[in-house]
Amino acid sequence: MARKGNSIIKGLEIQDIITQLNKAYADEWLAYYQYFIEAKVIKGIMKDAAITELTQHAADELRHATMVADRIIQLGGTPLLHPKDWFTHTNCGYDAPNELDVVAILEDAIKGEQCAISIYSKLAEMTRDKDIVTYDIVSQILADEVEHEEDLQALHDDITEFISHIKQSM
Ligand code: FE
Ligand code: FE
Ligand code: MG
Repeated sequence: MARKGNSIIKGLEIQDIITQLNKAYADEWLAYYQYFIEAKVIKGIMKDAAITELTQHAADELRHATMVADRIIQLGGTPLLHPKDWFTHTNCGYDAPNELDVVAILEDAIKGEQCAISIYSKLAEMTRDKDIVTYDIVSQILADEVEHEEDLQALHDDITEFISHIKQSM
C-alpha cells in the first residue's frame, strides 16, 4: 500500500526507520517496567518524593511506547509482538534494581535517562529534514527524557545534601 504520508520521506529507507523505532519501543517498555517496579520496592529517606517522580515517569514511558508504536504502524511496520523481543532489540537494556535505597535507585534511573537522551538525539539527527513526522515525535520524546534526567538529578542532589546535613549534625 503506497501511502502519501510515507511518500514524503526522503533519503531514508522506511525499513531502517522502523528498525530503529522498534529498538526505541523495546527501551520504552523496559523503562516503563523499571520505573514501575522501582516505585514499588524503593526504601529509605524521602522515598515519597521519589515514588511520586518514578510513578510519573513510568506513565510517561508508557505514553512514549504508544507514540512510537503508532508511528511504526503508520510507516507500515509491526511493533515488537512479544516481550522477549524487548531484550533482543533494546538499546539501553534493563537494569533490575539490586540496591533498593533511594539514592541508588535514582542513580540507576538517571543512567537510563542518559541512554534514552543519546538514543533519541541520534534518531532526531537521522530523521531531521528527511522524515518530518518521526522527527517531530522523537523530538517530543527527547524533550521529555531531558526533563526526566533533570527531575531525577535535582531530587538526587536534594536528598544527598539532606543526608550530608544530617550526618554533620550528629
Ligand atoms: Fe521514554
Ligand atoms: Fe524517561
Ligand atoms: Mg518528572
